[in-house]
Formats: sequence, structure tokens, C-alpha cells
Amino acid sequence: MAKQRFPDAEKRMFHRVFICMKCGARIRGDLPRVKAGKVKCRICKSKKLRPIHKEAKA
Ligand SMILES: [Zn+2]
Repeated sequence: MAKQRFPDAEKRMFHRVFICMKCGARIRGDLPRVKAGKVKCRICKSKKLRPIHKEAKA
């Protein structure tokens, strides 16, 4: 039996969370804004963010 998590809620959460490529901090932001470079890491001010939702599979 697989443990049931929160498929929909998690998807939505991960969809809006990004990881800073520099320091690994979690940043919340909307995808279009991140892609436009409008969202920065709060800690190191880097604009290099990647979506977290790949980790949902692991
Ligand atoms: Zn950072």
C-alpha cells in the first residue's frame, strides 16, 4: 500500500516554489515572474532559480 500524500496540494505547492541554484534556498514565486527574472533569492540575491517540482517524483 502506497502512502497517500497530498497529490494536488503538493503539486500546487511545488509548482510555485523554486530553488536557488547558488545557495539552495527555497523561493516562492510565480513561474512567469521567475522566468522574467523578477524574482530573486532573498539570501544571495541570485536570479538563478530552478523549479522544485522535479523533486516531487523522487
Ligand atoms: Zn540564493
